[in-house]
Amino acid sequence: MNHPPLPWDAIGPAEIALIGVPLDDGSSFLRGPAEAPRAIRAALHSAASNLWSETGVDLGRKGLWADLGDIRFTSPQHCRAEIESVVDRLLTKRLRPILLGGDHAVTYPAIRAFARHYRRLTVLQFDAHPDLYDRLNGRRFSHASPFARIMEERLIHRLVQVGVRSVTGHQRRQAQKFAVDMIEMRRLDLALLRSLESPLYVSVDLDALDPACAPGVSHQEPGGLSSRQVIDTIQCLDARIVGADIVELNPTRDTNGMTAVVAAKLLKELLGKCLIDSETDAGRSPRPTAP
Ligand code: MN
Ligand code: MN
Repeated sequence: MNHPPLPWDAIGPAEIALIGVPLDDGSSFLRGPAEAPRAIRAALHSAASNLWSETGVDLGRKGLWADLGDIRFTSPQHCRAEIESVVDRLLTKRLRPILLGGDHAVTYPAIRAFARHYRRLTVLQFDAHPDLYDRLNGRRFSHASPFARIMEERLIHRLVQVGVRSVTGHQRRQAQKFAVDMIEMRRLDLALLRSLESPLYVSVDLDALDPACAPGVSHQEPGGLSSRQVIDTIQCLDARIVGADIVELNPTRDTNGMTAVVAAKLLKELLGKCLIDSETDAGRSPRPTAP
């Protein structure tokens, strides 16, 4: 297996590693998500905002988290293996990886690596779509199928999907076959998510949000979640987050960079949640909320 070079020394004392995965050849409709990591970082570091989470964590403090940059893929044929290898190395170093996609195809190789380190992983997937196609247009590893591959390989303990509102008959049968817990928008109950078990991986497909909040995605689907609902859900999780991804930002479809700002905001709240969990685990009280 190839091992793409990464600036491992940059990690320092951090427990959380941010990693860009600039891939969109798993997309069935449009290209563009390969440009997303750059756009999310630009929004994160923009002078228009600051690096504090709403929950009072100063993400600008050195050593809390490390950005390792983008995976530089060594060959197009081995991208999945290279993602898996990078995530595996991060987990072996006891880091919590947060991936910036890329399209949703990047989640399957990431979870393959997680499965080697966590036997009972729950995945919380924010998405307008179940991504459970056995295959779409003859492809088994596109962004329409990552959770079919994850479930048929029994890589995780439980899959919980929220925000779903575009489900074909085939995907509904797949969800039943794999015993997926699908919280559809038409019957939304976010309180169900508070009690999810640890360890938890959070996969945020930005098309879970309503296109009014997040227009910069390839598959806009009306009737989605608000930014507030996603933020509240992340902040209120009881479970310990051991990894996450934010996928499907398509900067070529964005309006005034608005969706990149949403992605950066969700990233800040995910980082804040992970860091508060670390403090709690270490027996220290969570950081105080800023006034
Ligand atoms: Mn998806
Ligand atoms: Mn989707």
